[in-house]
Amino acid sequence: MSKIIASAAIRGAHKIFNMAEQKYREALEKFGPGQEVGFPNTAYYLPIIYAITGIGVSKIEDMKRVLDICKKLIPPPVRENVPLPYLAPALDAGMATFFAEEIIEAIRYLEEPDRYAINSEDPNDKTIWLGAANDVIFRKRGVEFVDGTAPGFAAIVGAAPDAATAAKIALELQEKNLYVFMCGENGGKRFTQQLQEAGVQVGWSTRLASLGPDIYQAVFAIGFACRVAMAFGGIKPGDFRRNLIYNKDRTYAFVLALGDVTDEWYANAAGAINWGFPTIADTPIPQVLPTGICTYEHVVSNIPHDQIVQKAVEVRGLKVQVAKVPIPVSYGPAFEGERVRGKDIYLEVGGGKTLAVEWTTTRRMEEVEDGKIEVIGSDVGEVTAGTRLNFAMVAEVAGRNFQEDFEPILERQNHHLINQAQGIMHIGQRDIAWIRISKQAVEKGFTLKDIGKIIHAKYHQDFGAIFDKVQVKIYTEEEKVREILDKARATYAHRDARVEGMTDESIDTFYSCILCQSFAPNHVCIVSPERTGLCGAYNWLDCRAAYEINPEGPNQPVVKGQCIDEKLGQFTGCNDYVKKASRQKVENVSFYSLMVDPMTTCGCCECIAAILPMCNGIMTVDRDFNDMTPCGMKFTTLAGSIGGGAQTPGFLGHSKYNITQRKFLKGDGGLSRIVWMPKRLKEEIYERLQKRGEELGIPDFPDMIADETVAMTEDEVIAYITEKGHPCVAMEPLM
Ligand code: SF4
Ligand code: ZN
Repeated sequence: MSKIIASAAIRGAHKIFNMAEQKYREALEKFGPGQEVGFPNTAYYLPIIYAITGIGVSKIEDMKRVLDICKKLIPPPVRENVPLPYLAPALDAGMATFFAEEIIEAIRYLEEPDRYAINSEDPNDKTIWLGAANDVIFRKRGVEFVDGTAPGFAAIVGAAPDAATAAKIALELQEKNLYVFMCGENGGKRFTQQLQEAGVQVGWSTRLASLGPDIYQAVFAIGFACRVAMAFGGIKPGDFRRNLIYNKDRTYAFVLALGDVTDEWYANAAGAINWGFPTIADTPIPQVLPTGICTYEHVVSNIPHDQIVQKAVEVRGLKVQVAKVPIPVSYGPAFEGERVRGKDIYLEVGGGKTLAVEWTTTRRMEEVEDGKIEVIGSDVGEVTAGTRLNFAMVAEVAGRNFQEDFEPILERQNHHLINQAQGIMHIGQRDIAWIRISKQAVEKGFTLKDIGKIIHAKYHQDFGAIFDKVQVKIYTEEEKVREILDKARATYAHRDARVEGMTDESIDTFYSCILCQSFAPNHVCIVSPERTGLCGAYNWLDCRAAYEINPEGPNQPVVKGQCIDEKLGQFTGCNDYVKKASRQKVENVSFYSLMVDPMTTCGCCECIAAILPMCNGIMTVDRDFNDMTPCGMKFTTLAGSIGGGAQTPGFLGHSKYNITQRKFLKGDGGLSRIVWMPKRLKEEIYERLQKRGEELGIPDFPDMIADETVAMTEDEVIAYITEKGHPCVAMEPLM
């Protein structure tokens, strides 16, 4: 800790202690030792003293013991030439400061009964100062700290430069559902009075609690936190360690020091650090950066007023809470399966007709303004019904604990999160996203910007624990969309390649994914290193990370168990799991076969493989290919008939990346069974296809695979592969 801060805090503690001692002596003389003291209508005595020491001060004479403890706690003033570790003595001085201030305030209640509004939630005509909350107010308000309605409080000490700035800071804090506890003065001005000047209503009912005019009333804020831990956290009086830890972990509180920081302020700030409550100051005082007691920094200074709330939230590690998804249509799981068809479509993006890409990526903390949603290019308002637009959505996420490994997990949520908006249909992921916005939704005012709002709100609601801030940029101009597409594709390739080199044999635990059961209630993906999720968005590492983030979530470890059939890839543990998770609809599942017990498909698959019996081979088609295929069905028809969670031998949903994974279709003869795929898909995976071909001893394999430019029917495929000498011609019969 900074020597300057420690010295000032210790000086401040001495001043406040001296004042308490003097007040105690005067009161003893005036009222006698047996005089009752305390904050009105509370069972918690002087709550900080009670919580930390277990002493219930109820008479003047009880104060003596506490003052003696203070005397022991406060270290001698720091001398210039003595190098000491500063943190611990400063914290002790801070604690003693609070004890002393509680004594000062208790005596004040005796001396000046009208100083604070007693038993009132709001200022009355005698006073604007509310003092300590009685137990009725405390129970009503304190429970909100526990049930999540209020994450914590900001203790504002001093005053803003002017009333307008004060009002703005208060509003920002209210928007974060925080309580605002105000005390102290700066240059004759007080924050509470500034709010009143700006016409802002002050009181417990607006969460703007005007505790008192001086710094000493900071104890009412800290005392409140101590009571929360005792009343709702079950922490016994005197169990100081648990009280401090409870508050550090559960009460998101911090001090905003506005104005010149006096010794007394330093003493109070040092006290607050004991509970893990940091101080954020608008003046250039020395900083106390990480870490020790608080979650992150202890004192951060010189923060401009327009950034001070955001900064405080960051320093305290407060999680943004978004109670409701703020969009003009209904929102919830009931709307997830709903389709938007033909004449109902107002705006459509992707689906193979325009470009559409969704990319969730990491940014530095200072690069992200939480909740900022931008649409760059046309939005719903600028286009007529039936329009198609290009679309790129970038969710930029930042967080102290955010890891790049979490990106695909958040990104994969977009699908069901967007789908839950009434009148919006979302299919696919990554660069094969597909969104339809209905006319009904547009009539209610829905725009592309609302998609960003959904992402912001739901990421916070569902994944707030792993990141701090997210902003969303949506582009609809082709050039920009292409630019994002390139960046996103490079990221996808990087993510996919992370499992390269891992084998199914080397791992005894696979992971399930039942994220898509909201659509296809019996569908279960099991993801192994060599079989990525059929949506292409989840590989084994992603599922493992998702499980670590949320052990109760849709990705569960599945112990492989005994290998029943090595060629097909059947394992006892996986079969047992699938049977249970599919509600007995699927008994056995092969990891590497489309002919025997193939894995089911929910409809999200990037590609669908289908048997071409006359060719003795297998074709595959990706979602972006809209034309007829040699099996006699378009992708949409294929998806419609096999997507839904039932096993359909002869058909298999899979990811693009999976095509070149070594176990692909191993049970049916492997990659060399592939006789047809769309040209664009072939080009997309060309390099890896070439490499796998070489490994298999077929160096010109990609060219042996027919595509729509040479074959549209099974007969044409036979002709092509025969001419090329495709290996499947000589392979054992598929059926
Ligand atoms: Fe999970 Fe499979 Fe759905 Fe992908 S397709 S999200 S892996 S259930
Ligand atoms: Zn799915």
